Amino acid sequence: MTLVVPSMTPAPITPGRQALDSALHQLGQASDHLGLDDGLRLMLATPRRSLTVSVPVRRENGRLDVVQGFRVQHNVSRGPAKGGIRFHPSTDLDEVTALAMWMTWKCALVGIPYGGAKGGVAVAPDTLTTRELERLTRRYVNEILPLIGPEKDIPAPDVGTDEQTMAWIMDTFSVNAGYSVPGVVTGKPMALGGSLGRAGATSRGVQIVALAALGRSPEGVTVAVQGFGKVGALAAQYLSDSGCTVVAVSDVSGAVHASSGLDIADLRAWVAETGSVRGYRHADALDRDELFELDVDLLVPAALEGVITAGNAPRIQARLIVEGANGPTTPEADEILTDRGTMVVPDILANAGGVIVSYLEWVQNMQAYSWSAAEVEMRLRDLMQSAYGEVKSLAADRGLTLRQAAHVIGVGRVAEAHQMRGLYP
Ligand code: NAD
Repeated sequence: MTLVVPSMTPAPITPGRQALDSALHQLGQASDHLGLDDGLRLMLATPRRSLTVSVPVRRENGRLDVVQGFRVQHNVSRGPAKGGIRFHPSTDLDEVTALAMWMTWKCALVGIPYGGAKGGVAVAPDTLTTRELERLTRRYVNEILPLIGPEKDIPAPDVGTDEQTMAWIMDTFSVNAGYSVPGVVTGKPMALGGSLGRAGATSRGVQIVALAALGRSPEGVTVAVQGFGKVGALAAQYLSDSGCTVVAVSDVSGAVHASSGLDIADLRAWVAETGSVRGYRHADALDRDELFELDVDLLVPAALEGVITAGNAPRIQARLIVEGANGPTTPEADEILTDRGTMVVPDILANAGGVIVSYLEWVQNMQAYSWSAAEVEMRLRDLMQSAYGEVKSLAADRGLTLRQAAHVIGVGRVAEAHQMRGLYP
C-alpha cells in the first residue's frame, strides 16, 4: 500500500513533493512487507515536528530580504534527531520532510542511536557574500533554536553548506547557551571539535559499498560520477585511488569525459581554482545529463534527488548504481532498473558513511575526547560492511531489491522501537 499524506506545499507538483512521494512509496512497500498496522504506518509516514521559519537577511547594499527556512524532525523514537542542513533555492517543506524520513531509516539501518531530521533554507548560497551567508546562518539557527541541541537534534552539512556553516551554528548555539556546546552540530572544523575522517566520510562509505557490490577487482572498472561537491569529488577520488577508472564527472555547470580516465586530484585542483569542472583542459566537454547514458560499469549519482527517472532509466548502461545522493532514483526508474538487471545500492545504505562519522564525532564531543583517524575509519568500515552484509543477505533470502531490503530493516527497527515504547498517553 502506498501511503498518501496531504501536501503542505500547493500544486503544481514540485521536486520536493516528488521526493516525498518516493519516500512514502518506499515506506509503503516496507510496511506491507513487515505487515505493519495502519496506525503505525501513519505514525511513520508523518513527521513528529516540522518548523517553517522566515529568515530576514540584511544584504550588503542595505536591502532586507526574507527567505524561508525549515527544520523537520521525522522520528525520535530511537534517539535524538539527526540530519543535515541544506541551502538550495528550490528546497521546500516537502523535500526536507522526505530527506528527514530517509535519515530515520538510514540511522536505524546502520544501527546508530538516532532518529531522522533535516533542515533547509531556500536560498542560493553562491549569490550571497560570506558576511551575508553568516548573518543568514546565524538568524536561521536562532529561529530553530528551540528544536536543536546535542540531546535533541544535531544538524550537519548537506548541499550548499560546509564546515564553516557548522562553525557558525555551533557558535550561535553556544553564545545563546552561555558556554561552548560542540556536540550541537557535526561536520565541524577540527579546531572546534570536528572528527578526523568526517570530511570524506560519506565518500569513503560510497567507496566501501561500491567495492563490495562490484565483487571483483577494481582494476579496469569504469565509473561516472554525477555531482562534484563534497560527496562526489571525494567519491571519485577514493574510487580512482582504489584502481577504478573514473571516465566522467559532472556538476551543475557541465560535464567532462576522458575515456582513458580523469586525473581526479588534478581536476579537484581545477575546480578549487575555477569553481566548476567546465573548461578542464585534460578532458572533453560532455553534455551534463549525457553522463547518465555512458557505457560504464559504475554510476554514482552524488548531486540531488529525482535525477534518474522513467525518462532516462531505459538508457542507463551502468551495471551498478551506488547512490551517493539522497533520493536520486524515482520509484518508476527503480522498477525499470530492476527489470533490466541493474544493481542499485540505495542511498540509505550507500551514503550512510556521513552520518556514521557524524555519530562518531558526537560521541567524541560528548566524551570530550578524540580518536585517531585509523580508529574512526575502522569503525566506519565495520558499520558500513555489516549493514551492507545484512541488506544483501535479506534481499537474497526474501527476493527483494537492495532498496526494499534496506527499508525493511530500517523501517522494521523504528517500528519495533515504537511498539516497545508504546503510545503516550
Ligand atoms: P554539495 O553542495 O557539496 O555538492 C553538490 C554537487 O552537485 C555540486 O558539485 C553541484 O554543482 C552538483 N549539482 C547540482 N545540480 C546538478 C546537476 N543537475 N547535474 C550535475 N551536478 C549537479 O553537496 P553534497 O554535500 O556533496 O551532497 C550531494 C548529495 O549527497 C545530496 O543528495 C546530499 O543530500 C547527499 N549527502 C550528503 C552528505 C554529506 O555528508 N555532505 C551525506 C549523505 C548524503
